[in-house]
Amino acid sequence: MRTKIVAGNWKMNKNVSESKSLTLDIIANLNAQSQTRVIVSPPATNLATVADTAQGSKVEVAAQNMHQATSGAYTGEISADMIKSTGVEIVILGHSERREYFHENDALLAEKVNAALAAKLEIIFCFGEKLEERKAGKHFEVVKSQLSNALFHLNADAWKSIILAYEPVWAIGTGETASPEQAQEMHAFIRQTLTEKYGTAVAESVSILYGGSVKPENAVEIFSKPDVDGGLIGGASLKAADFIAIVNAA
Ligand code: PEP
Repeated sequence: MRTKIVAGNWKMNKNVSESKSLTLDIIANLNAQSQTRVIVSPPATNLATVADTAQGSKVEVAAQNMHQATSGAYTGEISADMIKSTGVEIVILGHSERREYFHENDALLAEKVNAALAAKLEIIFCFGEKLEERKAGKHFEVVKSQLSNALFHLNADAWKSIILAYEPVWAIGTGETASPEQAQEMHAFIRQTLTEKYGTAVAESVSILYGGSVKPENAVEIFSKPDVDGGLIGGASLKAADFIAIVNAA
């Protein structure tokens, strides 16, 4: 059975002490019996502190990005090994803000995916169509090509380390959410695409998260859809109470 996961992407928010106190607040209010995996993703400067703070708790920690090279003259970048040295075992790749503001494309993301897997990092891989692509009826085509260009060179075994996060760009940080039906329709398409490429066993084992303005008020309905295995949460992950309410919805 695939796992339910709720991951909070803090983006460029929270300094070291704020990250620590948000982590402690989340840990203090989590239901220890819950089967849902809970992941937080602080800025790179705070990974070690948050990993130390979360040690021994249910909270796991993810980096928001990494460079594809193992080391070298790449000023300002961090490698998979540096992430692992902080105690963090997960990395988010392909977020739409990385694609848009830092020009990350599918070919680069395929390299990052390979580097992360080589370092034994688990990956939350983000993808999703833009508004104009949905309006033009191209959303299925776009999503399929994002997946196949960045991930379909992998063998079936590698998928044990991949979590997918479908994030329609028009719903990220906009307050506009895909309807539960739109989310389910796309998640079912993604699972079908995985089935065609890798077979049912892989397709049924991969968690597919929805991201895009998930809040405590809409989380239950979105997460109740059969192919939605949880969420990647931006804005609402910055307040412990909202994030916990979303975790409880899963
Ligand atoms: C995100 O950045 O991954 C995201 C889903 O943001 P928000 O929840 O704020 O739309």
